[in-house]
Amino acid sequence: MSRYWSKLTRALTPYVPGEQPGLARVTKLNTNESPYPPSPQVLAALAQVEPSALRLYPDPQSTELRNALAASNDLALDQVFVGNGSDEVIAFAFMAFFKQALPICFPDVTYSFYPVWADLYEVSYRQIPVDDSLGIDVRGYPSDNGGVIMPNPNAPTGLLLGLDAIEELLQRSRDSVVVIDEAYIDFGGKSAVSLINSYDNLLVVRTFSKSRALAGLRVGAAFGSADLIEGLDRIKNSFNSYPLDCVAQRCAVASLEDDAYFVEMRDRIIASRLWLATKMEALGFAVLPSAANFVFARHATVPAAEIHANLRNEGILTRHFAKDRIDNYLRISIGTQQECEILVEALSEILAQ
Ligand SMILES: *Cc1c(COP(=O)(O)O)cnc(C)c1O
Repeated sequence: MSRYWSKLTRALTPYVPGEQPGLARVTKLNTNESPYPPSPQVLAALAQVEPSALRLYPDPQSTELRNALAASNDLALDQVFVGNGSDEVIAFAFMAFFKQALPICFPDVTYSFYPVWADLYEVSYRQIPVDDSLGIDVRGYPSDNGGVIMPNPNAPTGLLLGLDAIEELLQRSRDSVVVIDEAYIDFGGKSAVSLINSYDNLLVVRTFSKSRALAGLRVGAAFGSADLIEGLDRIKNSFNSYPLDCVAQRCAVASLEDDAYFVEMRDRIIASRLWLATKMEALGFAVLPSAANFVFARHATVPAAEIHANLRNEGILTRHFAKDRIDNYLRISIGTQQECEILVEALSEILAQ
């Protein structure tokens, strides 16, 4: 605490990301990164970056990347926004749309960055309880809200809502912006992008960090009506004109060009998810049905905090949230099949003690 900090800075409780160990050899299943490398086409694009070109500012509109995203999502260029990771895109959405008289709504069990942004931008919020199975019931969301945000599938549960539920949420919130954070949609859900031309208050957010194995590149996107995108653009151009560097723009385009690789890696992760859930159930875990690249599970008798600590001693990192309602769950990212096998082996030993 410094006397130079503003009142706002003093009051913040910043988001704490999962641990990024240095060189230590660990099985890293704690931050939902892809266990596989990005497409070889991305690596080729990276190798082709002309170092002397770094002298120049990048395209401030990221036009090539936005064109590629527009084409692959059947949208127009003015319906696409990109930012420095979807965390930045969501932060801009808070600034652009959520500072309203009414509180915004999001689930009580969800991405723990949402309340942090709300506090940062002094946006009031209501947390709507998930049901006893940790699922979201959109009928619990009041029509008079200052905005709604939720991931689909939800984090950290992995539970998916169908497009009928998303549409019902949109029907209930005609006067505010609904942000659907699709960080994990590629692992088993239907994107709400298909609803954008019917609902001008829908913003769909995506990231290249999970299914495209580019967490280190920091690329996120948003899709919505031209009016919403213009709102985000006004915030971006009042904050940082060049959120995406030239390397990130090129590599993200290269990733979109290699659909076959994307599908193959995604399918591998989905297959390992199924394998892991079955093995964990046999070890006495209740595993929530996941549509993401992680599982959320609790053991019948052994506390999650204890399993988490024991795994850590074995060099296996998972995520445990010491939070109301979910403190007996572990969130485990899907690794390579070999990493999943290492995990199951360690769990068997820990639980046999
Ligand atoms: C990982 C994640 C993000 C952030 O992704 P970046 O693009 O890497 O900033 C946003 N929302 C949810 C729900 C996530 O899990």
